[in-house]
Order: sequence, then C-alpha cells, then structure tokens
Amino acid sequence: MKAYDIIIVGAGPGGSMAAKIAAEEGLKTIFFERGRKPGEKNSSGCGLGPRMWQTFPDLMKYLTPEKCPSMRAGSASRNYFVNEEGRVVGYIMAHPTESVSYEPAKSWITMNCYRSEFDPWIAEFATKEGAELKTSRLIIDLLKEEGKICGVVDERGEKYKAPIVIGADGAISLVAKKSGLRTKWAQDQITIVPQYDFHAPSSKIDDIMGDEALAVWWSAIFPASYQVFFHDGFHQGLGNWLNKWDKNPLFFLNRVVNLKYYQRLLKNLDAKPRELQSHLLPWLKYPYNTHTDGVILIGDAGGFPCPLEAEGIYPAMVTGKVAAEVAAEAITSEDVSKNALSKFDEQWKKTSIGEEFEAGEELYNIWKALPFSPKETMSWFIPMFMDLLGGIFDWSQPHAKRVRQIASHVKSYMPQALPFIMKYVFPLVAKIFENDLDKMMDPQKLMTMLPKIMDLLPKKKKQRRDQA
Ligand SMILES: Cc1cc2nc3c(=O)[nH]c(=O)nc-3n(C[C@H](O)[C@H](O)[C@H](O)COP(=O)(O)OP(=O)(O)OC[C@H]3O[C@@H](n4cnc5c(N)ncnc54)[C@H](O)[C@@H]3O)c2cc1C
Repeated sequence: MKAYDIIIVGAGPGGSMAAKIAAEEGLKTIFFERGRKPGEKNSSGCGLGPRMWQTFPDLMKYLTPEKCPSMRAGSASRNYFVNEEGRVVGYIMAHPTESVSYEPAKSWITMNCYRSEFDPWIAEFATKEGAELKTSRLIIDLLKEEGKICGVVDERGEKYKAPIVIGADGAISLVAKKSGLRTKWAQDQITIVPQYDFHAPSSKIDDIMGDEALAVWWSAIFPASYQVFFHDGFHQGLGNWLNKWDKNPLFFLNRVVNLKYYQRLLKNLDAKPRELQSHLLPWLKYPYNTHTDGVILIGDAGGFPCPLEAEGIYPAMVTGKVAAEVAAEAITSEDVSKNALSKFDEQWKKTSIGEEFEAGEELYNIWKALPFSPKETMSWFIPMFMDLLGGIFDWSQPHAKRVRQIASHVKSYMPQALPFIMKYVFPLVAKIFENDLDKMMDPQKLMTMLPKIMDLLPKKKKQRRDQA
C-alpha cells in the first residue's frame, strides 16, 4: 500500500488547485482522475470570470492562446428577450461599466475556453510542484481503519493511504457518499444542463459577434439559456433543478435553437452542431456538511457553485486552495479530526465565496422565481419589461402621451409584479444592504429629507403654457 500525506480525488479545477497548494506546502500529494486526461470528462467549454485573475494573478497570467487555443475574451454580453410566441422581442447589450473596479474586469466580462485545454493546463501546475497525478484511475471506495477514513481504493483494487482525503470529484461525489457526508442531492439542489457545442469558423465569429463573448436568452418558453463563444465555436445550454422539468430538458434546448432568430444566427455564422452534452451541476442556497474526520469536500462535491448563476470553476479553485492550506496545518499538528478541519468552513467563509453565499438564499430564490420559471413569471415579466423599454424610442404618439400610455399599461402588471417584488426583490435588497440599513433608515435623517422632497412636488396644477 502506498502512503501519502494527502489524497485528492478528481483533477478538475478544484482538485488540481488543491494538489498544487498541498505540494507547495511540502505535503506528499497524489491526485486521481478517472478520465484519460484532466478535462476529458467535463463539460467541453467554460467561461472564466475576471475574479480568477484578481485572486490568482500569478497563475492566470500564464493562461495564453498558445496554451489554450480555444480562448476568446469578450467585453460585451448580450441579453435576448423571447416572448411566449417564441419571438425575440428585444435585446440589451452590456459592457463593463464605470463602477467595475479592477483590471481585467474593466476590459472583458468573460474569458472562454475549452475544459479539455483548461483542466490539463491547471493540473500541470500541480505536477510541476511535485504532486503525483494518476489518470485513467477511478476511485471506487474509501479506506477505513477503526471506522476512520484513511485513504482510497481504485478500480484495480490498489490502495492508497493518507490521513486526509479531499473530495474534488464533482457533482456526483463518491467521497461525499462514502464518507457519510451526503447521500443524494435533493432535487432542488442539483440541475441537469444539456448543451449543444457548435463549430463555427473563427473569422465568422469575429465578423458577426465582434467583441461579444456571451449571450443570455431570457425567455417565457424555456429556462434562461446561455451562449458562450470560443475561438472556433460556441455553446448553447440551459439548466434547471431536477424537480422543475416537466418535459425532457432537450425539448427546451431545442426550443432555443429552433427560434427563427437563432436559425438566422446559425446560418450567418455558418455553424454546425458538433456535440450534444449533458452534465449535472449542484446549485445550493448554502454549502453544508463540507467536512468530517479526515475528509474535506471542495468545488461541486461540496456544493460551492454560485447561488445565483452557478459559476463553479472559481469557487472550486478557491475552496481547493483553502482546503489544502487547512489540511497542511492539520497534518502538521497531527489532528485531522472533524473539529480541526472545521477551520475549512471558517476560512472559505472569509473569501469572496463566503461573501457570495451571505445572500445565498435570496439569490437562489430570485433565480428560481424568475429565469427558472418561464411559464409562471417570465411570461408577464418580459412583456412588462419590453413595455418599459418601448418608451426609449417610439413616435407612435406624442411623447408625453406615450409615457402616460406605458405607465398605464405597466400598471396592469402590478397584481403580478408587486407580490413578486415583495417576496423576492425586497428580501434580496434588504440582505445586500443589511449593514447599511441603519444609516439608510435613520428616522432623523429621513425627517430632515422629507421637507426637501415635498418642496420638489408641484403645489398645484400649473396652467398650460398656451393659456399663460
Ligand atoms: C454545462 C455546464 C456548463 C458550465 N459552465 C460553467 C462556466 O461557464 N463557468 C464556470 O465557472 N462554471 C461552469 N460550470 C460549472 C463548473 O463546470 C463546475 O462548477 C466546476 O467544474 C467544478 O469544478 P470541480 O473541480 O469541483 O469539479 P469537476 O470539474 O466536475 O471535476 C471533478 C473531476 O473529478 C473526476 N472524478 C469524478 N469522480 C471520480 C472518481 N471516483 N475517481 C477519479 N476521478 C473522479 C472527474 O472526471 C472530473 O475531472 C458549468 C457546468 C456545466 C454542467
């Protein structure tokens, strides 16, 4: 039996980051990957958020098109709005705004690349630090001595021993199950995400999409669908919790690609379907049961994807780093008990991931009630939103009359919109501004402001100018 200081199951972004840090900490480290190479078994593409460059600058500066030819950065994201008849009734294009505080977030919204390139790239940093990577190795069980976890067993029956095992084995984590940390995700904790991978010539993508790298299709007839552009192709996918699908998820994905507007886009881009994939992705209000004696769960295995839109690579890397640091300390102090490893929770809560989950429940709820509820909410939200936007340019009536017309029509949505705002928007706003509420709601301050506001209101109806 081979002995190590730390065993990591999975060589996705989380596992490789954990292996890199563990090796840097001087631990004898091994990490296992069931695929023939890291990334082989993962969803083929991904968008990387700028926070990765902010948190891991010394690493991310080495991600170049030479290493990762599929890379494509984009400063624009497009939001399409599709109504109940399947028409694209509007879209909004967004660039990083002036309030964005750091580079490269000021320059681009997302950096997209294929996992088949990204995952091996990040794993190499771990092996360069001295971690041993075993590919084509499925871990099938955990080793136990006197009821305590002390290693893993692979499909060939080979045993590997270590005081700490990190579960970085993704959505269907064997480590989570075998350690007793979790049996199964509840149906509203896990999404299934089918996606098409299209090939398109890079010259066409550049000509037609320009600086766009990402689009979201908000819709009344399918859950929000994302489109991510790479150097020579793009992905179109959508997800929802398992208990929300009333038809095969592919039925809804096909609704996207069969939109007339979408078919025109495919034609213009000269795009051809290359692959259909389907993957599971945990989506939680808050991660729980992340550790026990000798075991820590990170990334998808621990339920760390973002509670709003399930960005998962950055959380996997952050939790991988924190887990390896906590493991190194526990091994040095020869205490790998659940109590000692609870430092993992303490530490990740102090990171940007902890901050994200502070409003986890409210973010999760609003996503569930809006883009994941096409029939119930998006069916009235989209026409209401379009009516509001309709005022920007419309000369069907004198402009003042047009504004009154819009206001009166928007009022008709209030029976649906007001309860929605009360139930989902207010709690989110209250949570986000929790620490500022005292200042904002200071009654004395409000009293001094009130007369100023009253002054702004017209005292009596003014005479029309032609009657003056
Ligand atoms: C369709 C889709 C699109 C997504 N798009 C994005 C995106 O654009 N941006 C983003 O940030 N996130 C995205 N995500 C989420 C992201 O993919 C995950 O959150 C992220 O990969 C989690 O990293 P991880 O290292 O925890 O797990 P994974 O990346 O799942 O890695 C786990 C690894 O463990 C291996 N493994 C599993 N079990 C075993 C075993 N028993 N023995 C040995 N090896 C094992 C697997 O082969 C895999 O390589 C997307 C998810 C899906 C499904």
